Amino acid sequence: MPKAVQGVPPEKLAQLLLEKGVAKAVFGLRRLEGKAFHALLTFCEQLEGFDPLFPLMPSNGARGVSRLTCVEPISEPVAVFLRPCEIRALIELVKLNQAHLDNLIIVGIECTGVAKNQEAFIQQKDLSGDFELRKACKGCEHPYPENADFVVSLLGRSEPVIILKTEKAEDIAKSLGLSVSDVPEMSDEFKKLAEEKKAYSDKIISEIKERARGIDGLLEVFGRCIGCHNCSHVCPICYCKDCFFESATFDYDAESYENRLNKKETYRVPLDTILFHLGRMTHMATSCVACGMCEDACPMDIPVSQVFKAVGRDVQALFEYVPGRSVEEELPLTTFRYDELHEVEDR
Ligand code: SF4
Ligand code: SF4
Ligand code: SF4
Repeated sequence: MPKAVQGVPPEKLAQLLLEKGVAKAVFGLRRLEGKAFHALLTFCEQLEGFDPLFPLMPSNGARGVSRLTCVEPISEPVAVFLRPCEIRALIELVKLNQAHLDNLIIVGIECTGVAKNQEAFIQQKDLSGDFELRKACKGCEHPYPENADFVVSLLGRSEPVIILKTEKAEDIAKSLGLSVSDVPEMSDEFKKLAEEKKAYSDKIISEIKERARGIDGLLEVFGRCIGCHNCSHVCPICYCKDCFFESATFDYDAESYENRLNKKETYRVPLDTILFHLGRMTHMATSCVACGMCEDACPMDIPVSQVFKAVGRDVQALFEYVPGRSVEEELPLTTFRYDELHEVEDR
């Protein structure tokens, strides 16, 4: 049985880490004056509203950690409070040279899911009671945080439990003077929830595969796309500063529009929306962590993350790759392997 600290909520852990100087800063979700956002806090007095368990993901926290650590590793310990899909995205960003893990103390949240941002921010729904989860969360296949030093667990516990997953976490708990006991890693309630989420995932994947099949299916699903690119701007894995699909390559001259008209008589504006999605898919199918940010940000209610997850799951299975599983595991499409995909060669 793993070692754990009982009765200490995550905000108290943050306070202790700062007070005792174990962490120079903490990073996580903060709520203030009706807003929720990720914040980097260095003083205990700033912990007002620090609420890493609040069921909202205004942005995938891996993007924030990437901004802090992209250029160089941070020099002093910072505790980052993240949900499982945020940690997985962070691991992928490390492999894409967009983040460093050095000096990070990772506090993972055993995750039941988050609400849609639109409901929280625009409709101002109260998230203390019942609320609609993101579809990505209803069908989340990885709600338990891997690669964390600490795991905060609440579901099915009589009081908050913080599991110590690494030696570093055990040392920190000791230095904070916290008493440690043996506790089961996951409650039965959480195991049951994880199974329900997996079953729901299988259902939505098979439905979206049926719906988005072939060019007609893609047109049906992405036909409403207005080309705003919100889905890529919020995606933790789409990190390019200059997106190819926003480059001058897609600024056509009058002649090229005319040529298209001569061929097809009419065309939809904006152009190239399906091409954008297919291109984005090829760039990131191996690393999509199915966080649902893209779908949540879509003003046209297009099931973007369901399509990306369905495609991602097949591509990832092909390479026996699980994004975010390990920082040691090489990214499939950037690593040449002599012994791979013979079935394609042999065709
Ligand atoms: S996708 Fe999974 S890990 Fe991410 S917020 Fe939803 S339930 Fe949590
Ligand atoms: S494509 Fe969508 S679901 Fe996948 S990582 Fe990006 S934002 Fe998350
Ligand atoms: S957010 Fe929605 S409408 Fe905007 S580009 Fe993506 S799929 Fe299209």
